[in-house]
Amino acid sequence: MLAKISVAVPKLSGAEKQYVNEALDSTWISSRGPFIERFETAVAEMAGTRHAIACNNGTTSLHLALAAMGLGPGDEVIMPALTYIATANCVRYCGATPVLVDNDPRTFNIDPTAIEAAMTPRTKGIMVVHLYGHAADMGPIMECADRHGVWVLEDAAEAHGARYRDRPVGGIGRCGSFSFFGNKIVTTGEGGAVTTNDDELAARMRLLRSQGMDTKRRYWHPVVGYNYRMTNVTAAIGVAQMERLPEALEKRRAIAAAYTERLESLAERIERPYVAGDCSHAYWMYTIQLRHSFASSRDDVMAKMEMDGIETRPVFYPVNHMPPYFDDKLNVPNAVLCSKRGINLPTHELLSDSDLDRICESLTQALAG
Ligand SMILES: *Cc1c(COP(=O)(O)O)cnc(C)c1O
Repeated sequence: MLAKISVAVPKLSGAEKQYVNEALDSTWISSRGPFIERFETAVAEMAGTRHAIACNNGTTSLHLALAAMGLGPGDEVIMPALTYIATANCVRYCGATPVLVDNDPRTFNIDPTAIEAAMTPRTKGIMVVHLYGHAADMGPIMECADRHGVWVLEDAAEAHGARYRDRPVGGIGRCGSFSFFGNKIVTTGEGGAVTTNDDELAARMRLLRSQGMDTKRRYWHPVVGYNYRMTNVTAAIGVAQMERLPEALEKRRAIAAAYTERLESLAERIERPYVAGDCSHAYWMYTIQLRHSFASSRDDVMAKMEMDGIETRPVFYPVNHMPPYFDDKLNVPNAVLCSKRGINLPTHELLSDSDLDRICESLTQALAG
């Protein structure tokens, strides 16, 4: 019996253990200690921003950014229907309304022309998601946001190190948010961070992250804050992971290239990932789409691969198909199609050439009938 191949496995081959031991030996295991600042510096450098604010996960980091920008009841935020649920949930936490729009069928990312059409006087901002590691089309999106005087929050949870026109994601909008969950490109187990060049917003986020306590007057709380802090032990893992980011991206890109080459013979049955000319893909998940005549067999294909010991994932459901956001009249045909046709193949740094052979052989067999 061949070993099971997982969709995602963290690679902890750097200084993770050494730094965690340093944190333990120092007794600074809670949310103070030198690794937190070192981690924030590394994350800010990745996004090309002046500030990074570390959080305990990528959902709280999104919420922290929205809360600091003052999002509240009656406000609307435009976002893609095709995303992970946390993007929408954070808007709801603020009592505001996510306005879901369609995506580009090739990149899976929010369609800039759909944003323009969804603007209302209640629109406060746009959340873009760099889905599966490919940057959203930030040029026209920033232009549209500026014209309407609204902010842009980049949900870069899946796109550490991805670039748009040579600029790193997370540093293009008013702020960006990263996740460091166990299956992400860079992981701390659980973790998140907000990146921004806005000094005032950064200060506001630091205040809200730590119970809203006044920085000069201890136990004086001028606002309702949260406890969204990261621990020094967690940050120690993150510092080691960030040191490996260039290597991680290189490896992921090599795996993507290997898939693309091996899957050439299936070009009539599947679409391989599209990469826009002005983007560099971070390949959180190498994502294929079954062509129309094969689309109905998507779940069968995944089940057959599972029997060969290969884990895959379906592309996310459109947010408007799920109970808390249900609206089946919403016109998001691309989100519906991508969701039905898409499969995430295993994408992680521990995949060997023979793993890739096995995966591609299994997919080929599954598609053959
Ligand atoms: C993973 C993810 C998040 C949330 O991150 P957690 O760290 O799991 O809370 C948010 N948005 C997107 C698009 C994600 O993929």
